[in-house]
Amino acid sequence: MSLSTVFPVRPLVETGLEVRAENLCRSYGRGRDAVHALRGVDISFAPGTFTAVMGPSGSGKSTLLQCVAGMDRQTTGRVHWGPTEITAMPERRLAQLRRAEAGFIFQSYNLMPAMTVEQNVALPARLAGERVDWAAVAECLAEVGLADRRKERPGRLSGGQQQRVAVARALFARPRVLFADEPTGALDRSTGREVLWLLRGGVETEGRTCVMVTHDPVAASFADRVVLLADGVLVDDLVRPSAGLIAEKLSGLAC
Ligand code: ADP
Repeated sequence: MSLSTVFPVRPLVETGLEVRAENLCRSYGRGRDAVHALRGVDISFAPGTFTAVMGPSGSGKSTLLQCVAGMDRQTTGRVHWGPTEITAMPERRLAQLRRAEAGFIFQSYNLMPAMTVEQNVALPARLAGERVDWAAVAECLAEVGLADRRKERPGRLSGGQQQRVAVARALFARPRVLFADEPTGALDRSTGREVLWLLRGGVETEGRTCVMVTHDPVAASFADRVVLLADGVLVDDLVRPSAGLIAEKLSGLAC
């Protein structure tokens, strides 16, 4: 699948958004029972780059993603999206900013079963009170290879197709940053690859910033950079590593 077929002529995202965290800490509970999921993480995701966040189970990957994506509040530290500090921003403004700038993809596709595929893609825009451009929805579905399935309910699609609907929904507003938590976790290798191509394509052709949590070294090898977490701390930062090197580093962390 070539990138030009995946992403035909569309307006380019002006530039990806830089996402930056400083001394990020996130604890759950208090006192002796407190769990310190993040313990002082400093990280920057450069505009137009694709980063995979990896590490053993419980190392803080999802917590990091949720904090930098403005879906969870850190205990201390700061998060910036470009020039804007999102920490301490009132929830309503943050929700508006998330809608304008960010897309989200999760392992479980989180589609609405009673709605058609195209209604699912249009849902965020409708919730934001925008008029839906159904031709643009159809075009977006064509980009993920589902033009002919747009009137169907998600339950009639395979897992890989449902995740492609979720990708279309996330990309419909042409976000400058995409956050994905185990987007291929429920898919077999070949359907997982199709989804990874879509994420990679958005980085290559639109300059989008993409941050993805994954436990799969092959999925991570689609990224420009792989960061490793252990026990709430960043322990490694690899540039374009091979799947083999990633697997070796992970086994060193005993996950
Ligand atoms: P990972 O994504 O690497 O598996 P998480 O970020 O989900 O790790 O979790 C990091 C740590 O924080 C784990 O010890 C987990 O049990 C704990 N944790 C995550 N969410 C909560 C929560 N809502 N309440 C209490 N502990 C949590």
